[in-house]
Amino acid sequence: MTAYNTKQKECIISFFRTHSNCCYTADEVIDNVPEASKATIYRIISHLAEDGYLMKVQGMGRSVCYQYCNPSTCPEHMHIICTKCGASFHLDSETSQRVRRAVSDACGFEILNETVLKGICPECRGKL
Ligand SMILES: [Zn+2]
Ligand SMILES: [Zn+2]
Repeated sequence: MTAYNTKQKECIISFFRTHSNCCYTADEVIDNVPEASKATIYRIISHLAEDGYLMKVQGMGRSVCYQYCNPSTCPEHMHIICTKCGASFHLDSETSQRVRRAVSDACGFEILNETVLKGICPECRGKL
């Protein structure tokens, strides 16, 4: 943790925390956190992802995105991501449980909490 600047790390975490329902590519973070250099941001983001503070979101037809993740609550719920704009939401643990139970009743599968569901967010549905 001493290998990189703590203040810059704080800036990056707080940026993700204030936009916890959005995911960003490293380049978007660079645009939004002018306090840190590009190389530093790349390095800090990969550390944060390893430490469980950021969730890696892939397969949106864009580059790899990252989203804020609360290491104490996020492992307990599922997430859903919009395939149109990439917005991603934290499902509360009650909703996650309901989905898990419904799927388990229907076909016996146990869904893992790290599952990321795909869908179309309310904002994008409004534009359809
Ligand atoms: Zn979460
Ligand atoms: Zn959307």
